[in-house]
Amino acid sequence: MRVWDAGGFGQIHFDSAAIGEPLLGWIIENRVIQHALLERARQLPAVDLLCPAALEAIQALDNDRWRVQLNDERAFTTRLLVGADGAQSKVRHWAGINTGGWKYDQSAVVANVRSAKPHQETAWQRFLPTGPLAFLPLHDGRCSIVWATAPEQADALLALDDAAFADALAATFDGRLGAIVDVGSRAAFPLRLQHAHAYVRPGIALIGDAAHVVHPLAGQGVNLGLLDAATLAEVLLEAIATGHDIGSLRVLRRYERWRKGDNLLMMGVMDGFKRLFGASLPPVQWLRNLGMSLTDAAGPLKNLIARRAMGLEGDLPRLARGAG
Ligand SMILES: Cc1cc2nc3c(=O)[nH]c(=O)nc-3n(C[C@H](O)[C@H](O)[C@H](O)COP(=O)(O)OP(=O)(O)OC[C@H]3O[C@@H](n4cnc5c(N)ncnc54)[C@H](O)[C@@H]3O)c2cc1C
Repeated sequence: MRVWDAGGFGQIHFDSAAIGEPLLGWIIENRVIQHALLERARQLPAVDLLCPAALEAIQALDNDRWRVQLNDERAFTTRLLVGADGAQSKVRHWAGINTGGWKYDQSAVVANVRSAKPHQETAWQRFLPTGPLAFLPLHDGRCSIVWATAPEQADALLALDDAAFADALAATFDGRLGAIVDVGSRAAFPLRLQHAHAYVRPGIALIGDAAHVVHPLAGQGVNLGLLDAATLAEVLLEAIATGHDIGSLRVLRRYERWRKGDNLLMMGVMDGFKRLFGASLPPVQWLRNLGMSLTDAAGPLKNLIARRAMGLEGDLPRLARGAG
């Protein structure tokens, strides 16, 4: 992975060989992961898939149970409802859980593109004052780009024809991978930081973006959600094994405690990076570049950062350690 600052001399190079690993990670299209998980769920006899039905309303019952109403007339009672319904989570809203956070003055333009030079199985990120531009390597030689920039510039980039967009992209990327020779469909998403004040209520647990939305500059959003899911699964299995109610606050708070600190740390670090690289004051720019260069030269610190981002460090649930 190569990261560099458009406003100076700072750069960092992460190499899996330096920490004795074959890879730093995988870039996988979200729909591929979702498809694989859905196929697995279909194979499990204990899972009933109700889709394409959507959740329409929930109602609190006695004993901390919830009545769940679907949009196809079906309804049922549940001991635990897991809200994995994204940043606009209705489950969170119905459970009366508020969120904190703020909008960034940035939108992210995403697309798959092909560059004249090969991506070299490397994730590339250039930090500009307007936001980071990332090229993430795909298996077929293309790159998935995430270009965070001012909302009005994002709109202008969407309005360009493919050739003009390709030229703007190559120029903003410093020509690192040469000309952009093919551009797929483009979309833009407003960016924000959002954190639920609580992850749990009696009979309810929030996971993924329903609980937290981070800046995508380190591509950690899905990873955090998967860690939530793995942690909740572990906590619930233990509760079942010890005869506890899986919907009780006592059980669910264990999940919340385990994940909240880790998620807050990641949110804080991403937010700090966003602000640090958005700063245009010369002394801040100079210090930032010096910090990057020193980190690059300091092997142990750099390796610690890499191992943390790879999910090899920290208080990980068993599923995330490959322990099953
Ligand atoms: C521009 C951009 C780039 C990003 N890049 C990366 C990256 O490189 N790597 C990374 O890890 N993350 C990235 N992220 C973050 C990542 O997209 C999110 O963290 C992730 O998609 C959150 O997953 P989720 O399942 O929690 O929520 P979502 O993906 O929002 O899924 C929620 C699901 O719930 C369903 N749903 C909602 N309401 C209901 C209802 N009432 N009934 C039934 N179903 C319902 C929705 O249909 C949807 O399928 C990026 C985000 C942005 C904006």
